[in-house]
Amino acid sequence: MAKVNEDFLKLAGGYLFPEIARRTRAWQEKNPGEKVLRLGIGNTTEALTPYITSEMHRKIDLLSDRSTYTGYGDEQGDTPLRVALSEMYRREYGVELAPEEFFVSDGAKADAANIQQIFSSDSIVAVQDPAYPVYVDSNVAGGRSLGFDEESLSYKGLVYMPSNESNGFVCTPPETHVDLIYLCFPNNPTGAVATKEQLKAFVDYAIRENAVIIYDAAYSDYIREEGYVHTIYEVEGAEKVAIEINSFSKNAGFTGVRLGWTIVPFGIASDNAPEGTVHRLWNRRQCTYFNGASNIAQSGGIAALSPKGREECRSLVDYYLENARIIKSGLEAIGIKCYGGVNSPYVWAKAPRGMKSWEFFDFLLEKAHVVVTPGSGFGGSGEGFVRVSSYGHREDVIKAVESIVEHIND
Ligand SMILES: *Cc1c(COP(=O)(O)O)cnc(C)c1O
Repeated sequence: MAKVNEDFLKLAGGYLFPEIARRTRAWQEKNPGEKVLRLGIGNTTEALTPYITSEMHRKIDLLSDRSTYTGYGDEQGDTPLRVALSEMYRREYGVELAPEEFFVSDGAKADAANIQQIFSSDSIVAVQDPAYPVYVDSNVAGGRSLGFDEESLSYKGLVYMPSNESNGFVCTPPETHVDLIYLCFPNNPTGAVATKEQLKAFVDYAIRENAVIIYDAAYSDYIREEGYVHTIYEVEGAEKVAIEINSFSKNAGFTGVRLGWTIVPFGIASDNAPEGTVHRLWNRRQCTYFNGASNIAQSGGIAALSPKGREECRSLVDYYLENARIIKSGLEAIGIKCYGGVNSPYVWAKAPRGMKSWEFFDFLLEKAHVVVTPGSGFGGSGEGFVRVSSYGHREDVIKAVESIVEHIND
């Protein structure tokens, strides 16, 4: 008799987004004809940009012609795209990475979930609390937890690094030994950004403890202020201890097109493997489980990294940043304490009057007809907050903010 993988059974019900959908649907049924204003999801809403689109059109034309048609590409990604990524890191961040250290993928989420596979199943894993759920869930499914503890609302065996008001939502390294550390800056959900000093503490910890950092930089293009790190490789020594994951989803609007990349430097060593092994294993993993990203998407990626493409991405990001500014200033004007929303598309808003995350969610839905994301769904330290997303058409964002302002004292 076939048995299912019991580590997958340990995953607590995918609670957050289905529950948001359920409550929104229930409200809609009671209030037919009323429009729900959505500031809940991290999904882009604005059109692909002209030059990037034209390059993808051109690729389709090449594929439509027998003499220029191509089939499978390299599992690691097309060389011109890996070269363009390497050059972008040098040009914009002053960081030297070889094209061969870049692995092109169909998005950062899958890489973030899969990377744990090349590490021992008895690795001790540290995550930020609150966090993007993928890091936690992939490690639970990967057999690194004994299950969910209903009392502490956390998985047994994982090390949580609390990110809260007292540390400005930038946690410090664990007090105890861990093997893998997941970090995400600018952070989803809190919008926090990290300075070089703050990240250096993690790199130093990883060097000292022989740990590996998995750094999710999906929102790095949202950083507009000085003093924050765009890539962890700006920190000295990171090329020996850190893997970085990134994506074209949030800066080029590729959430549906699908394209990302992961950097696995040659220089990472681990407890039982010399330099080069981690790189080799990820290469081996990708060649076995993955057959390359869409060639149309990759031509869009190359275009996105050209000077013209970078300019288009910048304007697209500007649009969402302006939405974030509107949300943040609107909420602050009615006395709601807000974090993030600068250098980030997410505003992390503190529920007023001592409300819990889900109470504030229900309040905003009932009174203002606005849907946000309860912070507690990202981890225990998110309790008392909601994540307000800037992904939406400007007119809808303005309407949602006006509605909250009008109904906050209802
Ligand atoms: C949106 C997002 C990504 C991007 O995922 P893709 O699979 O590339 O679309 C990665 N990490 C975080 C934290 C995100 O919010």
